[in-house]
Amino acid sequence: MANIGPVGSVMLQRKHRSSAQCPRCLLEETNHHILLCKGTDTQELYASGLHSVTEHFLDGPFHVEQAIVELIQAYRDERQPDFEIIDDDDVRSAMQSQWDMGPSLLLWGVLHTEWEDIITEHLAGTRRSTPKWLAQMCNTIWEITDNLWKNRNKQEHKADDSPINIQRNLVADRLIDDIYGIIPPLRLLPRSDKNLFQATKAQRKAKYLKVKLKWIRRAQTVLLAYRSINARTPESQILLNFILRGRQQRQQRNEEQHQEHLPTEKQNGCGMKHVGFYGARPKVDGYEI
Ligand SMILES: [Zn+2]
Repeated sequence: MANIGPVGSVMLQRKHRSSAQCPRCLLEETNHHILLCKGTDTQELYASGLHSVTEHFLDGPFHVEQAIVELIQAYRDERQPDFEIIDDDDVRSAMQSQWDMGPSLLLWGVLHTEWEDIITEHLAGTRRSTPKWLAQMCNTIWEITDNLWKNRNKQEHKADDSPINIQRNLVADRLIDDIYGIIPPLRLLPRSDKNLFQATKAQRKAKYLKVKLKWIRRAQTVLLAYRSINARTPESQILLNFILRGRQQRQQRNEEQHQEHLPTEKQNGCGMKHVGFYGARPKVDGYEI
């Protein structure tokens, strides 16, 4: 049953993810963890799943119901089952054999053959078939696994408020901060790039995670493209430095303009003639020349 689904640890191996974290609780996610996770909604799913299993047993043997429920709970709680709660020797033996095969197999719908005789005996005198009865039992158990897997995928892909997506949102917001720190002055950009960077940082952060991540990838690509012009010619580098430094300088300039009319201290020995106000230096379009 190893590696059947794209759980965190498999995605990390395949390099589709930067971590093996579970979307529901942020622990490492293996195949077993899908069923063992104690994160968002999992307890409720287990409880309602076990309820469906017991409903299947309304006309079934009580000892088998007890054994099956105890096996599922023991696996979930990561403990040994309490075999002593079962009075019937055959049922206790089947329970032991089922557990010895592998604690998780019951949840994947794999049954030990010892159950067969017990159920056949129970159904004797009715027109019901043992394989069908056992298959129906497996289906109700499998529903638990299926629901937990679906819930996990919802938390991974759809719920913006799941633990992993809250964490991803924080990372995305930090990346957005980084990007906004280096966006060139919009008026120097081609229209398509201008549109890309037009929203305010707060507007950008308020978007859904998926939208944000898509934008971050595009923005990073565009900014990288500006930077990669760098290497080609010295002239383009000068222009590029001008563009890329633009926004930061403009911000600095805005801050300085608040202090524009405060006299600056004359520095001794630098050889330059200070005119008293930094704000009086010649500028073109707000940039010092
Ligand atoms: Zn988890």
